[in-house]
Amino acid sequence: MYERAVRYAANGWPVAALAVPWHGVCPCDLGDCVEPHPVGEPIRNGFVAAGVWKAYPWDIALVTADFDVVDLPPEYGALLNHQLKAACPTAMAPARRRWWFFVEPGSIEAERIAAAGGVLHTGVEDWVAAPGTLVEGSGRIRWLVHPHLTDWRPYRRRDPFDLVLF
Ligand SMILES: [Zn+2]
Repeated sequence: MYERAVRYAANGWPVAALAVPWHGVCPCDLGDCVEPHPVGEPIRNGFVAAGVWKAYPWDIALVTADFDVVDLPPEYGALLNHQLKAACPTAMAPARRRWWFFVEPGSIEAERIAAAGGVLHTGVEDWVAAPGTLVEGSGRIRWLVHPHLTDWRPYRRRDPFDLVLF
């Protein structure tokens, strides 16, 4: 967990300590939380992350400050993954078969995602559990396209005009 948190932060992906309740006990000071939640401010610095995760064995929240996460149900997620191939960092939460696409902020309107039965995670107050995290009800979330394959860049939408003229 320590190494993964440092790697995200060192590559500019904002992370926060994630408290995940297990069998009714949360590792934060309150202790009786029901849902996983971040603790503290987003961290974008590998050295700071090293200090935090050395001190506590937290899970990792990826804070959607510098990218949006488009959370889609399987009927759209599988098709989109097939189209995007390795161009977009993509994760999957197996238990509920949700697909997560990491895209540049503002890429897609929340209304369009909601109409497809999805959820847009956006802004510094929002987050997703980093792949590798085991969450009750979601199973172990895993990367299908790891961000190192895109040089740690979220997906940028392009159409042929962008590709030809810019
Ligand atoms: Zn808690």
